[in-house]
Amino acid sequence: MEKKNIDWSNLSFGYIPTEARYVSNYKNGAWDEGTMTTDATVTISECAGVLQYCQACFEGLKAYTTEQGKTVVFRPDLNAKRMVDSAKRLEMPAFPEDRFLDAIDKVVAANVAYVPPYGSGATLYIRPYMFGSSPVIGVKPAEEYQFRTFVTPVGPYFKGGAKPITIKVSDFDRAAPNGTGHIKAGLNYAMSLHAIVTAHEEGFDENMYLDAATRTNVEETGGANFLFVTKDNTVVTPKSSSILPSITRRSLVYVAEHYLGLKVEERVVPFEEVKEFAECGLCGTAAVISPVGKVVDHGKEICFASGMEKMGPTIQKLYDTLTGIQMGRIEAPEGWIHEIPV
Ligand SMILES: *Cc1c(COP(=O)(O)O)cnc(C)c1O
Repeated sequence: MEKKNIDWSNLSFGYIPTEARYVSNYKNGAWDEGTMTTDATVTISECAGVLQYCQACFEGLKAYTTEQGKTVVFRPDLNAKRMVDSAKRLEMPAFPEDRFLDAIDKVVAANVAYVPPYGSGATLYIRPYMFGSSPVIGVKPAEEYQFRTFVTPVGPYFKGGAKPITIKVSDFDRAAPNGTGHIKAGLNYAMSLHAIVTAHEEGFDENMYLDAATRTNVEETGGANFLFVTKDNTVVTPKSSSILPSITRRSLVYVAEHYLGLKVEERVVPFEEVKEFAECGLCGTAAVISPVGKVVDHGKEICFASGMEKMGPTIQKLYDTLTGIQMGRIEAPEGWIHEIPV
């Protein structure tokens, strides 16, 4: 199919409506068969569960063109599974994993003209989500739900190379010990907006959240997990039941062990240890890895040896290997790359 006439490399991370999206409704205890629609708007009750009590969860993944010219998505089965976990925790009916995968195939195939070409750095961002659509005024789960998936083309995350960022140790908490930090609930983001706006006003790029119970251990940022590299080249990533299980982070851990032969530790990371690390990065679907050059703890600066000009050498290798796997330049582990039937 002819690609859209879009200046791919100058796209930002914003919403551009495309022609088609997928919708399925849950009513009387069952999901309907689902359909594609050109309608980019949602009409729901003024009293819908999502509007009153935030009953909503979402996923985020990307479609892109490989070196071989295939249209693919990366490990969508893990997004399908994670959305089931999110739904259960929010007392929403799970959207079946096979149907989630089918919805992604359908939406990407219908919008294949918006999948950026190989080498542009741009991708087609896919946003599956679901919400309580029926009226709820007494606090309880909704009875009806809507699952939707739309796509929007987004530009390269790093325009002109990945520059290390500066993050602050936040005085706000992201997630309670037995709360919802481990699921992809919109409500986790609603309550982090004040913290991120404040951090930006103070000149920081992101927040480092500590564990809410003791404020001594590193958790994650608002939307990305941490990877650290020790001076003797061990990859360390924080373990906590209130961290969102990033698919990018889980993939990078596999790449570190099986492609780069590195030792990996997933464990509690005391904030006190951060100054001992040589490299630091943030991982998530959007950027794969954003290098961190500096962490500021109430005026006290921790500067990683990798500096403020470029990624550290191990983070760079992880980045190059995972993006190589995604783009078809390096052989992928079985099942990681799903080709869209177009
Ligand atoms: C989505 C998300 C991530 C990144 O997860 P990926 O699956 O790698 O995109 C990390 N932290 C939070 C809080 C998130 O919501």
